[in-house]
Amino acid sequence: MAAEWARAVRILDSAPEICLACHIRPDGDALGSMLAVAHALRSRAGSAGQRVIASFGDRPFKIPRILRFLPGAELLSPPEYYPERPRVMVTFDAASIDRLGLLEGNAARADELIVLDHHASNTRFGTLHLIDAGAAATAVLARDLIAALGVAMTRDIAFGLYAGIVTDTGSFKYSSTSPLVHEMAAELLRTGIEPGAVALELWDRAPFGYLGMLSSVLGRAVLEPGAAAGHGLVWTTVSRADRAAGGLDFEVAESVIDVLRRTDEAEVAVVLKESDEGTWLVSSRSKGTVDVGRACIRAGGGGHRMAAGFTATGSADEAMARLREHLADGADSGR
Ligand code: AMP
Ligand code: MN
Ligand code: MN
Repeated sequence: MAAEWARAVRILDSAPEICLACHIRPDGDALGSMLAVAHALRSRAGSAGQRVIASFGDRPFKIPRILRFLPGAELLSPPEYYPERPRVMVTFDAASIDRLGLLEGNAARADELIVLDHHASNTRFGTLHLIDAGAAATAVLARDLIAALGVAMTRDIAFGLYAGIVTDTGSFKYSSTSPLVHEMAAELLRTGIEPGAVALELWDRAPFGYLGMLSSVLGRAVLEPGAAAGHGLVWTTVSRADRAAGGLDFEVAESVIDVLRRTDEAEVAVVLKESDEGTWLVSSRSKGTVDVGRACIRAGGGGHRMAAGFTATGSADEAMARLREHLADGADSGR
C-alpha cells in the first residue's frame, strides 16, 4: 500500500493536468473529498503549473443544495467540459465505474486512473487503487493524500473533509466513528471551521413545506415484522407529488431515512425516493444484523453493510418486492 501512495504522489506531482471526479448525485463525502483535493492541488498549482478539473457526471449538472455552502463551487465544471481522454484522473467515493455517470467513458479512457474509495465492494476499476474499506469515509483517504502531497491543511480544505466525515459517520453516531475519526475532526476544526454551521447547512434546515411532506411520508410508513428473515423492515416512499405539494427539491427526501431507521421493531429501514425524472432511488439502512449492502448489490446497486442503495425504474412496489426477496436471503449473515 505504501508503494501505491508513493506512486500516486509521483503521478500527481508530474501531471500537467489532473482531472477529478466523484460519484453522481454526490453526497458530502463524495463532493467534500473531491473539493478538498481540488483546493490542495490548486494551492500548489502556481508552482507546479498544473491545471485542475473537477466534476461529476450528472445531467443536469446541479450541486446539491445542502452542499452549496462548501467553498470551491467555482472549482467545478460540468461534465461536458471534461477531457475526453484524461492523462491523469482521480475518482472519489465511487465503488464502481458506472457510479461516475456521464464521466464513465472518460474514466475508461484515462491513461492513469487513481481510485480513492472506502467501499468494501469496490470493483478496482482503475490503474491505481487507494482503497481502505476500514476508513470511515473517503475523506479520510483524501486527507492522507493531501498530506502525502505535502500540502498544509487550510480552512477551505478542512470544510470538504469535515463534510465527508460527518456525512458518512452520521455526525459521529455510526459505529464507523473511531478515535481516528475524532482525531481527524480535531485537526480539521483547528483551522477554524464551525461544526454548528456545517450541521445547520447539512441537516438542520428546510423550508416550511418540508413539515407537511414529512407528515405524509411518515404517516404512510409500513412495518413488516416478518421481513428481512424476521428481523423486521420499515419502509415508506417519497413521491414527486409529495415534494410538489411543498415545492421541494429531491434532496429533502434524503433526511427521511434518519427518522425511519429509529423504529425499534425493524432492523432494516428503506426509503424509496422518486426523482424528478420518475426513477426510484432506494436508500436502506441496517442496525447491523442484516447486510443491506449485499441486498442492494444484488438489486443492482451498491453500498456498505449498514447503508446502501440502488436505483429502480418501474413502480415503487416492484422495487420493494425485489429488495424484500434479497433481504430475506441476506439476513442470516449477521455478525
Ligand atoms: P444513500 O442511501 O443514498 O445515503 O446511500 C448510502 C450508500 O449506498 C452510499 O454511500 C453508496 O455507497 C450506496 N448507494 C446508494 N445508492 C446507490 C446506487 N444507486 N448504486 C450504488 N451504490 C449506491
Ligand atoms: Mn457517497
Ligand atoms: Mn463515502
